[in-house]
Amino acid sequence: MTSRSKEDRQIKVVFIVGYTRSGSTLLEQLLSMAPGSVAVGEMAYLWEQRVRNNSYCGCGSKWTNCSFWKNILGDLPSSDFSKARSPFGAFFRDLVSKGRPSDDQDYERFVNQIESIYQAIHDQTGCSVIIDSSKRPFFGLAVSRTKVSVTFVHLVRDSRGCAFSWKKAKARVELGKDAFMPFMPQFPAHRSALAWVWNNLQAEILSRRCQNIVLRYEDLVENPTFEVNKILNQVGLPSISPDQNGTFHIPTSHGIWGNPDRWSSRNAIKVTKDERWISELSKPDFIVSTLISAPLLKWYGYPLSRNKHVCRPSASSELQSRNHRELRHGAPVRSRQILRDETQRSNPNGR
Ligand SMILES: [Zn+2]
Repeated sequence: MTSRSKEDRQIKVVFIVGYTRSGSTLLEQLLSMAPGSVAVGEMAYLWEQRVRNNSYCGCGSKWTNCSFWKNILGDLPSSDFSKARSPFGAFFRDLVSKGRPSDDQDYERFVNQIESIYQAIHDQTGCSVIIDSSKRPFFGLAVSRTKVSVTFVHLVRDSRGCAFSWKKAKARVELGKDAFMPFMPQFPAHRSALAWVWNNLQAEILSRRCQNIVLRYEDLVENPTFEVNKILNQVGLPSISPDQNGTFHIPTSHGIWGNPDRWSSRNAIKVTKDERWISELSKPDFIVSTLISAPLLKWYGYPLSRNKHVCRPSASSELQSRNHRELRHGAPVRSRQILRDETQRSNPNGR
């Protein structure tokens, strides 16, 4: 077998990593439009017993009744999912150390189980690229220890936008009024900002170990076709485009868990910016969020001042992305670039 054909047959995973409320559901849906891809939602929740037993699949079936997942998990020893969940310490040791902790059998078993599920998804669907929007860097690290080829998409949104979102009540309408979680939790701004920093720092460490693409939510909603096709091109999938009205038509997903918004958008999406936080986030919340996350905000190219957000020029002249770190698993950084895509961004459809 030639190296090219081996590469073509290898299972690829696009793993979205980052903090919650950053647009990962939107990104997953858009990526799943490409033929040859299948979106599985936040696969990390397969190890959450209450989610498996009480939530609904993206297709609308009670998750335990979904034929897609029944076929995937049918031959796998799924009954021990909750036991197989690797302890936090093993992830952390793996994240901060150079090598894989070979003496941790639970971690080894967990990694093998993830690999078996990806393999089963590939076998059942015939899709070469699996889109996993789990976001958790620790879970992503375990995924990187499997034999699949992983491309991490580190999705970042302005921390003030995330904080604003977490302050809003959001019903888990798909779970029904008697569900174990009828509403998503709400967090104060300082807690969201701290979690945003912690999560993105983990993702930054992870990015030094694996192939990684950095994508800002604000760039995604500015030029969704361009940004999504950059990722699809990276993993060898065909490009996508909206219809003549600018609507993206999304295939039915069997995603597990995820943002309840996926239920409102269903199969047709018009991408719009959600920048309500700029005018609606209170001054105390804005200040505390900015103070906590200022260094990373600057690192990702966000203005610290709210006024500069309001007066933000077009993406083509300001925005930048740090992308395409050419890494192999476990190897040191070989190259790192900050790409300024002004020329391409001014021509987002690549024409
Ligand atoms: Zn389903």
